[in-house]
Amino acid sequence: MINEQNKHKSKMQKYKKAVDKGISKASKNKNLVIVLTGNGKGKSTSAFGMVMRSLGYGHKVGIIQFIKGQQKTGEEIYISKYHPEVFLYQMNTGFTWNSQDKDNDIKAAENTWQKAKDLLQNPKIDLVVLDEITYMLNYKYLDTQDVIHAIQNRPANQSVILTGRMACQELTNIADTVSIIQDEKHAFKSGIKARKGIDL
Ligand code: ATP
Ligand code: MG
Repeated sequence: MINEQNKHKSKMQKYKKAVDKGISKASKNKNLVIVLTGNGKGKSTSAFGMVMRSLGYGHKVGIIQFIKGQQKTGEEIYISKYHPEVFLYQMNTGFTWNSQDKDNDIKAAENTWQKAKDLLQNPKIDLVVLDEITYMLNYKYLDTQDVIHAIQNRPANQSVILTGRMACQELTNIADTVSIIQDEKHAFKSGIKARKGIDL
């Protein structure tokens, strides 16, 4: 038993040493570009988790959602009720595969991008979330270089989170953190309906 405890202690000490070494190496202070991509669940919810963290510190947040579902989401209800100071704009064409009107979608994407650009030029905003933007680039509704340029030229105090499946190489190249969320299992695929507070 004592031997077991000693083994555990020495393992943890080694682990702590490695973690501390990593922490001491991270000496740079800069704001981030974070890409959350992949087919698994947890991209937008992770972004909203960081919104919550930011708000905890009194940071100013702007959120642009490039694809909006037909139904209101919990985060939308929460923000309008408890954090009306957060700028939240949604492209209101519904899911693109529902709208089936390409010209209208492109117009909506461009208008929505204009709002995103305003945030990316505003030094008062500390965190910008561009939710589901990857689709706008993949469908070529927006110009990738224009988006990259705006992100790279944002104010130094600002971090940006981009979400959506199949993030293109241009986005991952400029990101500091890229998470590819893998789809191992999803309740929806076994016939379970989207749940309020979990999926919506
Ligand atoms: P979430 O908003 O739950 O974090 P997400 O942003 O990672 O999901 P999206 O593709 O934007 O993923 O998902 C939109 C909706 O589709 C959400 O209701 C989500 O629960 C659901 N969803 C996400 N991943 C899957 C999947 N692999 N299979 C089926 N439904 C999914
Ligand atoms: Mg999402």
